[in-house]
Amino acid sequence: MSKSPKTLAVLGMPVHVMTNYPGWLIECLQQGRGTHVVTLNAEMTMQAERNSSLAQVIQNAELVIPDGAGVVLYLRWLLWQKVQRCPGIELAETLLRELGQQQTSTKVFFYGGATGVAAKAAEVCQQQISSLNIVGTHSGYHSPEQEQQLQQTLIQLQPQLIFVGLGVPRQELWIAQNRHLCPQAVWIGVGGSFDIWSGTKHRAPAWLGNNNLEWLYRLYQEPWRWRRMLALPEFALKAFVYHFTARGAIS
Ligand code: UDP
Repeated sequence: MSKSPKTLAVLGMPVHVMTNYPGWLIECLQQGRGTHVVTLNAEMTMQAERNSSLAQVIQNAELVIPDGAGVVLYLRWLLWQKVQRCPGIELAETLLRELGQQQTSTKVFFYGGATGVAAKAAEVCQQQISSLNIVGTHSGYHSPEQEQQLQQTLIQLQPQLIFVGLGVPRQELWIAQNRHLCPQAVWIGVGGSFDIWSGTKHRAPAWLGNNNLEWLYRLYQEPWRWRRMLALPEFALKAFVYHFTARGAIS
């Protein structure tokens, strides 16, 4: 087994730092080690301050990756850690590519997004990586009865890699409540990744992402997010206050 990740803390939330997240997760898949991956950003950290259920789910997740610029800058500037940003969508894409290269029959499932979006995303991924074994998809808007059917489907199929794109905190809470259905699976909350893969939305150009400005592009694309994005300056302020009143490292 690869070296365990180093655990740091950002405003009381854990972040696991390592150099090879995909490699670690491939080992989880090979060994059938049930794993919940949380992609932590400033907005989620602020939500967790107000939502104790979300905070608990993040604390219990086997892997919390530094997805957002705010989290990465906190770790670099305040904790002096050499940390690279690991956007959840890129981790998910790398995992799919590696599974394709290894020609494993790992069963993959996509859940979330508007009607047809997960199915379209699966079609696109399958076209790009022909050896992928995507065993099913399900939209993220449905009745309680359809949700029960989805749960039955998951029990029967036992996918090993399950992407859940319902947005934060819905996807994190849903995974925590349902991971017992496929106890050996790797579950990842992937936000709007299906929208990107299906071509419904576009990601920020790489140069913006490389300069920690992906949030600015999202604001331009989805201006109604401005209220949610107030979490970013709030995070920055709290990060400084918290850091200088309580040190961040857990272990
Ligand atoms: N979504 C869903 N069911 C819901 C609410 C949202 O499937 O009840 C999907 C929505 O269609 C979108 C994703 O969840 O594809 C949320 O994407 P967003 O980029 O807003 O995620 P976040 O920024 O919260 O990670």
